[in-house]
Amino acid sequence: MKKELEKLKNEFEGVIKKVSDKDSLEKLKNEFLGRKGKVKSLMKNVASLADEERKVIGKIANEIKDAIEVSYGLKEKELEVQEYATIVDREWMDVTQPGTFAEQGHLHPVTKTIYEIEDIFSKIGFTRIPVPEVDWDHYAFETLNMPKDHPARDDWETFFIDAPEGKKGKLVVIPHVSNVQVRAMEDYELPFRALYIGRSYRRQSDTSHSPMFHQFEILMIDEGVNFTHLRGVIEHFVHSYFGPDRSIRLRPHHFRFTEPSFEVDISCGLCSGTGELDNIQCKMCKEGWLELAGAGMTHPNVLKAGGVDTKKYTALAFAFGIERTMMMRAGMNVDDIRTLYKNDLRFVRQF
Ligand SMILES: [Zn+2]
Repeated sequence: MKKELEKLKNEFEGVIKKVSDKDSLEKLKNEFLGRKGKVKSLMKNVASLADEERKVIGKIANEIKDAIEVSYGLKEKELEVQEYATIVDREWMDVTQPGTFAEQGHLHPVTKTIYEIEDIFSKIGFTRIPVPEVDWDHYAFETLNMPKDHPARDDWETFFIDAPEGKKGKLVVIPHVSNVQVRAMEDYELPFRALYIGRSYRRQSDTSHSPMFHQFEILMIDEGVNFTHLRGVIEHFVHSYFGPDRSIRLRPHHFRFTEPSFEVDISCGLCSGTGELDNIQCKMCKEGWLELAGAGMTHPNVLKAGGVDTKKYTALAFAFGIERTMMMRAGMNVDDIRTLYKNDLRFVRQF
């Protein structure tokens, strides 16, 4: 009996050494120490022994049972330590190591400028309205006081759509956003202050022209709108966008859709409008002024084309190219305006 107990103990010690995970350990525990385990069944036999012998063997049996339990406990601890070490090993990280960040993008400088301009004009009551990029000749030229054979049309190197002519003429990819003028008169109730920003297309491509560029225009129609309003609106824009220290100058000019018409100049930011820097002629401007935009009082023929009562209403308009304006403020030195649309991240990231 005693030998059998010793044998059981040795058997247990032998097997437990090879155990390397918790599941097998648990199985082994049931096999030896469980209710139907080997130790229990041997202990049952102890009960049938004679008194003297039972005492002795019972004691030994208990000692062996304890010993088995102890080595079980030790193994359990050992496995726990091992498991913990594996987790630490697997999940270790150097908290002092610099992190890796997802790269953050930003809007294209032209898009940013568009939003900024929209904001500036919304402060004085102008609402942005949509610009159809493909439109009829009727809106792009005809109603803008540019009849079919007028030579002014040659100034616009227009892209025509290869499509049948409609009641309103040929379809064009708009050469300017002014096509919105008469559309707005037809669509909105008077008086209104509209601004429209969109892409324009002309068959020109060189260092200072991109075949696709952005234009911005405002149109304000109301009773009693006059030249002082025009000047005020331009000044509001120039002071908001370029800074309060910049001044404007209006030079008489000729456009078909405005009368009178003006070219708008702003004072040069580099030489503060003096035309020279340290007694040397300023490289940025001509005699202290930079050309910014075209402006004027909307021609009565254009208003009539939009069904506006010209005895009651007058209107002003002011338009410029977004790219040029943006580059003027940023003092951006771009050899080729088309660089803006080449998707070269090295360029775009600078702004
Ligand atoms: Zn200058």
